[in-house]
Amino acid sequence: MSQSIAVVGAGICGLFTGLSLARKGFDVTLFERDVPPPEGDAEEAFFNWQRRGAAQFRHPHAFLGLMCSVLGENYPDLLEELLEAGARKMTFADMVPKHMADQYQPEAGDEKLWMLLCRRATIETVLRRYVAREANLRIHSQTFVTDVIVEEEATLTGETTLTVTGLELTDRQNQNRESIHSTDVIVNASGRADKFYQWLQNKGAHIDEQRDDAEIVYYTRHYELREGVSEPERDSDNPSAGDLGYLKYGVFPGDNGHFAIIVCLPNEESELRTAVKDGDKFDQICMNIPGLVPWISPEQAKPTTSPFGIGEIHAVWRDYIPSASAPRLLNYFAVGDAAARTNPLYGRGCSTGTVHAHLLSEVLSSEADPWQRANAFKAQTEAEIRPIFSASLSEDKRGIKKAAAIREGRGVETAGSLKQWFALAFGDALVAAAKYQLHVHRGIMRTVNLVEKPGMFLEDKKIRNTVLRYMLRGRKRNAAARIERAASREDMINSVCDPST
Ligand SMILES: Cc1cc2nc3c(=O)[nH]c(=O)nc-3n(C[C@H](O)[C@H](O)[C@H](O)COP(=O)(O)OP(=O)(O)OC[C@H]3O[C@@H](n4cnc5c(N)ncnc54)[C@H](O)[C@@H]3O)c2cc1C
Repeated sequence: MSQSIAVVGAGICGLFTGLSLARKGFDVTLFERDVPPPEGDAEEAFFNWQRRGAAQFRHPHAFLGLMCSVLGENYPDLLEELLEAGARKMTFADMVPKHMADQYQPEAGDEKLWMLLCRRATIETVLRRYVAREANLRIHSQTFVTDVIVEEEATLTGETTLTVTGLELTDRQNQNRESIHSTDVIVNASGRADKFYQWLQNKGAHIDEQRDDAEIVYYTRHYELREGVSEPERDSDNPSAGDLGYLKYGVFPGDNGHFAIIVCLPNEESELRTAVKDGDKFDQICMNIPGLVPWISPEQAKPTTSPFGIGEIHAVWRDYIPSASAPRLLNYFAVGDAAARTNPLYGRGCSTGTVHAHLLSEVLSSEADPWQRANAFKAQTEAEIRPIFSASLSEDKRGIKKAAAIREGRGVETAGSLKQWFALAFGDALVAAAKYQLHVHRGIMRTVNLVEKPGMFLEDKKIRNTVLRYMLRGRKRNAAARIERAASREDMINSVCDPST
């Protein structure tokens, strides 16, 4: 167990990887290009931590049931520290819409259905300080990994092996001192900006990459509740998150009176994309969406940032054992966004990344042979992460189609075949049933929180029968449950876009 492991990146997954490996007795060194969190509390970290290495750092994050269960089961003391820093636990009972409250009876499994509400700065600061106290682990900040060292060998049985043996580093804290760090195992947790993919291919590795553009840009603005004001109650007729087809939106309640609103726009929505970058117009867009009005009306909250955006929203999957004839890449593992990335709209990245980190630590502690480890990790990743990736990708594709239909003035609800009609009718019935039947709502929340594989709740007979019963009510009646009382695309553009631009 005294193997040395270098983890590249001290973001969410790098920290969880380091933590779980150190607890299993490995000797862990984390390398992070950015500075550590500043002294002080969540406010200080949110407003002043220089975090250029994680471009999404100031975008709001939902921390879903899957990640929360890993946290609660393995690190209850960390959870306590997060709550002390202002993070809030939102239980399944809290998520039950008011009009269904009388149907609510606690059930086994509800305890896994909770979310942690806080800014990413808050969770990352607390997690980072917690991990830094761990024995067998050290974090080198302001240290850029600039390349990976690989030894190539031909085996007697004819395979080529590529064994990673170290990292090239540039230490910005010490006058850009360059050095080599030799290690037994390398874990790449360097996130969206991963460069190992290129470095390893330059050295002969075969890596299969699947990359699909979600064709959206994601905009955020942060707000703070005014003194003495509480968060608005959840209203299922005017939801605080939704999909208007041409625009997706959502409120992310945070810690210490802060919250953020996101507005996601298809790349093609150029007029709205120009408007949304302006603070006043961002707010005006929100004021055209009834579910957002109670959050941002001027007497309720004040903005704390300007709107800011992030593009390049891709679903990415990387396979490091693409074929039997590919060179065997040994002692190298990628976790989190460096391995599998999904559209942030679903809030899944930190959950899948946290699970991925723990899968790796199980594999490394139970297998010693490098090739067995590589295969076991691939198998675990396929079993646990791939279904979530695939479901996210399908949702992206549906979103792209829907947005294009609305832009082009085509009906999104018309079916060209019986199969399509059934799918649309089933979808409408599901939305309507979830709005009024708590067991259906609970099933959907199991998928949302990733406590089971996406869509698995539809295998539940009681849920399926309820949805089929709702289908008998007819599409028109069911569709009414889905229609949002927000501005149409045309009205939104007319109300916020400057005709001269
Ligand atoms: C706009 C947006 C919103 C999101 N919202 C959610 C959400 O609501 N819920 C959710 O679960 N997920 C969300 N995600 C996804 C989530 O942010 C990622 O899945 C998660 O951060 C992945 O963790 P990671 O550790 O793999 O990467 P990161 O957290 O990005 O960390 C990578 C780290 O590696 C460091 N690094 C990179 N290169 C080097 C190098 N060469 N040398 C040294 N250090 C290096 C970086 O500085 C960084 O600290 C969102 C993503 C985006 C883009």
